Amino acid sequence: MATAGGADSRRAAVRVAVFPLPFQGHISPMLQLAGALRSRGLAVTVLHTEFNAPDPARHPGLDFVSVPDAIPETVAANGIAKILALNAAMEASGHVRGTLASLMAAAAKGEPRRLACLVIDSTLTAAQKAAAGLGLPTLVLHTGSAACFRLFRSYDMLHDKGYLPSTESNLDMPIEELPPLLVRDLFDPSKLPNKEIGQMILNLATETTTNSSGAILNTFEDLEPHELRMIREELAPKGIPPFAVGPLHKLVASTNGGDTSLLDQDRGCIEWLDAQAPGSVLYVSFGSVVHVTKDEFTEVAWGLANSGKPFLWVVRRGLVLGVEKQELPDGFESAMEGRGKVIEWAPQQEVLAHPAVGGFWTHNGWNSTLESIYEGVPMLSRPVFGDQLATGRYVADTWKIGVLLEGVLERGEIEKAISRLMDENAGVEIRGRAKELKEKVRMCLESSGSSQQAVDKLVDHILSL
Ligand code: UDP
Repeated sequence: MATAGGADSRRAAVRVAVFPLPFQGHISPMLQLAGALRSRGLAVTVLHTEFNAPDPARHPGLDFVSVPDAIPETVAANGIAKILALNAAMEASGHVRGTLASLMAAAAKGEPRRLACLVIDSTLTAAQKAAAGLGLPTLVLHTGSAACFRLFRSYDMLHDKGYLPSTESNLDMPIEELPPLLVRDLFDPSKLPNKEIGQMILNLATETTTNSSGAILNTFEDLEPHELRMIREELAPKGIPPFAVGPLHKLVASTNGGDTSLLDQDRGCIEWLDAQAPGSVLYVSFGSVVHVTKDEFTEVAWGLANSGKPFLWVVRRGLVLGVEKQELPDGFESAMEGRGKVIEWAPQQEVLAHPAVGGFWTHNGWNSTLESIYEGVPMLSRPVFGDQLATGRYVADTWKIGVLLEGVLERGEIEKAISRLMDENAGVEIRGRAKELKEKVRMCLESSGSSQQAVDKLVDHILSL
């Protein structure tokens, strides 16, 4: 058996490179994973694009290398096609390969650590190809749920069995193979202006996983036991080990929630929360990429104002389609009678941990969902696209820790949904289950908990590569 000292020295001989997709919901979990590997004694180099570059000063334990990206303007523009544009630009420039080659050459020239592998975002096929060309193994970080990992690998089946393309009449049909999902919860590429692009993006994660030496999932055993079991069964014959290491934002105790934010967080809202009654505030945020129309924005505003509940609402720049900075509707400020606060970007983890917060109106981005689960905050789910739709269904039907707001956004319906979540009696069961799940997530993060053990296994796996 290896001694502890032996394990330490093996870890001290290894470096890992990581390469996130340069968007908030992908950069954060990758940097959190990097921090966890660093805390286990590995050195980590973060490869990043100039576009949405992280701030190295906030991560003193990690090394950063900017990969000249030659990224076309289209990457910064909206639309999921930007992921394909990014891969194409990376492949054409050869810069990722060059960067990896110099990290590998450094080891040959006497740097004490060898580069053992590259951990990529599941969409970065170009980075994986660059690594493969150099004989460097890749591990794939999946920044969504285990349920979505399975779902995105099931599109052939969904088409073969006739669930897709969806029609007006089959939207409420249950997907027998993937409970509790309904057809309406599927991201349907045929509804996009360019369905080929939609399908190509869906396929990226399957391709990178198939070509990888391991899959890292930001989830935990007690949250998705069935989904993780099915993933293990599917990947075992392919020799691809999965590691459920989430929630990554709390894996290392010293993590500060603001470390990985690309935007400045307005901490003034904490003082405002301090003055509110416990459990009374609805926190409202739709993440970093979702857009709403101007009409939807107006309905949200009046739904909040008419709800009679205190609320903290994040209206980030660009939230409303085609508008850089959206004005609030006329009369809104006086209607909310000081009960509401609107800010551009929140210290979200701190907000969710605040005792005044009793509910989270979220788009169910996976990071926001995990952050809410960790703090035991029940959700008002309004998923918009991609994996958010399935996550919203799990929140409402599997974990039963939230209320799903479906259909056209309309102020009266919003008001009703807020009451169902926030009213003392109506939301009592949901709140109870959110509390139970909060206890489970904390157990999985203890030193003997499933996620910490998974990280240990991941580190052993990396050492064996
Ligand atoms: N976030 C934040 N301040 C805000 C809103 C969001 O710091 O005002 C963070 C949030 O904590 C989460 C991330 O932005 O970690 C959003 O990721 P998520 O996967 O939820 O959604 P996406 O932005 O990718 O749609």
